[in-house]
Amino acid sequence: MLGVLDAKPKVGYFYIGHSEPSQEYNLFKEMHVSQIMGVPLTVHQNDSVHDVIVQIFMEDTGGGFVLDQDGYLVGLVSRKDLLKASIGGGDLTKLPIGVIMTRFPNITTVLEEELVLEAAEKLVTRQVDSLPVVRPGKDGRLKVVGKFSKTIITRLFLEIKE
Ligand code: ADP
Repeated sequence: MLGVLDAKPKVGYFYIGHSEPSQEYNLFKEMHVSQIMGVPLTVHQNDSVHDVIVQIFMEDTGGGFVLDQDGYLVGLVSRKDLLKASIGGGDLTKLPIGVIMTRFPNITTVLEEELVLEAAEKLVTRQVDSLPVVRPGKDGRLKVVGKFSKTIITRLFLEIKE
């Protein structure tokens, strides 16, 4: 699609070699996260696990970013975190999402001005499905301004093709 690889029966994929990068590839490699980021689902750290599961279903998304009372990023939850909490057997309407989330600073984030290629590399090396797009405040705390995910980058590939 990007003119970098080709495929042959019984050979598989191979690097095209010294051909000039395609126009599509040049477009792709200069794109910034802000150009394709999506709208994130954000929840409050005191929301119950039950309420977050309901919101994830309603928004048809794979997880949510967790904010503190001032609206700064403190954690995130994915499907697996919610499944783990669900098989724990407790009352999910009483369990705050802040207790089970993956918490800051163990969170991989991306800035709006970073390249899409750099963000994609983070997704792959950290083996996660999404990254919060953040804007640092003066005190180093992070505001969430978007979401970068495997779905978003897959959609971009299709748009470039079209
Ligand atoms: P799934 O739960 O569907 O496998 P992920 O692969 O994104 O989704 O998440 C796996 C684990 O990694 C979860 O515990 C989740 O909280 C954590 N995680 C997801 N995204 C990030 C991220 N950007 N930074 C740090 N940890 C993350």
